[in-house]
Amino acid sequence: MTKGTFVALDDKTIRERAAAFLAAGHDPGRRLEFLRARFDAGLAWVHFPEGLGGLGAPRELQNVVEQELARTPQLDTGVQAIGLGMAAPTILAFGTEEQRRRFLRPLWTGEEIWCQLFSEPGAGSDLATLGTRAVRDGDEWVVDGQKVWTSGAHHARWAILVARTDADVPKHRGLTYFVCDMHAPGVEVRPLRQITGEAEFNEVFLTGVRLGDDLRLGEVGDGWRVAQTTLMNERVAIGGAPVRRGGGMVGVVAETWRSRPELRTHDLHQRLLRLWVEAEVTRLAGARLREQLSAGQPGPEGSGMKLSFASLNQALSGLDVEMRGEEGLGYDDWTFRRSDSVDFFGRGPGYRYLRAKGNSIEGGTSEILRNIVAERVLGLPSEPRVDKDVPWKNLPR
Ligand SMILES: Cc1cc2nc3c(=O)[nH]c(=O)nc-3n(C[C@H](O)[C@H](O)[C@H](O)COP(=O)(O)OP(=O)(O)OC[C@H]3O[C@@H](n4cnc5c(N)ncnc54)[C@H](O)[C@@H]3O)c2cc1C
Repeated sequence: MTKGTFVALDDKTIRERAAAFLAAGHDPGRRLEFLRARFDAGLAWVHFPEGLGGLGAPRELQNVVEQELARTPQLDTGVQAIGLGMAAPTILAFGTEEQRRRFLRPLWTGEEIWCQLFSEPGAGSDLATLGTRAVRDGDEWVVDGQKVWTSGAHHARWAILVARTDADVPKHRGLTYFVCDMHAPGVEVRPLRQITGEAEFNEVFLTGVRLGDDLRLGEVGDGWRVAQTTLMNERVAIGGAPVRRGGGMVGVVAETWRSRPELRTHDLHQRLLRLWVEAEVTRLAGARLREQLSAGQPGPEGSGMKLSFASLNQALSGLDVEMRGEEGLGYDDWTFRRSDSVDFFGRGPGYRYLRAKGNSIEGGTSEILRNIVAERVLGLPSEPRVDKDVPWKNLPR
């Protein structure tokens, strides 16, 4: 997009657009209709093109919209997280006009929930080794395989899916990216119980699932490049949400400190202060990253953001449990539940502590993110990759 496109769309114009939208009298009591109208007014994600929920405006102006429409019906950013954070930017970048028009509106309003069918039992960090096959049959693809750790698959109407379409070429080159119909015959979702006791995620078995070629995103064999867009957006979506100073997990721990004078030892004070400083540095780095984002797609720097988010969440939730002593070790609910989303702040310290363990695994493990930062941000030598030129079918598995 050229700079010229942005000229007319500044803070003031966006405020006026939001005011005009509110003045049009959409009934906030009718949540879905209200959200649809907001999308149609271009106030869903202002940096998207007109007609697709946006105005082609600079991304940072979204904050202005959020402020102006704060008291109106909001998205469910928990159950919608994968749709909003990962599927949408990928569909925008690689989808055909028809796919964008079909998927983006119900994705944004939450009428259709999305999940991510990437990881497999033998392909997590090394995602490009995945073995789920998609074989072409006329205008359709027939998909067979197994995915794992699929968050929210039990709610999902659609999934983003990476599958192997050519076993004869090296692993990164034989992949193709699809939108998978989670209601298609042959899709089976089975819950997996997590350390928290609940089952946010699932195993997904795909047996002879038929997907039309119009559900392919990007070119055949170009799935790795498409997946990179998803993954880079995923890291920002997990680690880069705006937080106010002293908010988020550090706010919870500081509150424990404030409300319990008996805890105020020198040692705990030092540890809390150190984490407070780290939280502030992470928050400011996040603000900088979001500014960079307004200029285009997220880069590898987002991996650093997600890395800091994970280690901080774990350190802070651990300190909180420790400060609370015996009470901190109690756990509020072991009932097996199919929760909608991660609720760090609506649950107790035990839940936060246990759930934070997953932060350094989901969306790429911390070890992998360190590799990405080392290689792609700092320019250090890369890990030896002996399988780079070997056809996938010849790789030991
Ligand atoms: C809460 C949660 C939700 C998730 N949701 C989804 C989802 O919705 N959809 C989805 O597709 N996936 C999801 N995942 C899966 C997640 O992306 C994978 O678990 C992750 O990528 C790691 O893969 P793996 O589990 O196969 O571990 P492995 O790849 O087997 O790694 C095991 C260990 O070895 C380390 N390791 C591996 N390779 C290297 C290397 N080259 N250098 C250094 N260390 C290395 C790893 O860092 C890790 O510590 C979720 C995971 C969690 C925990």
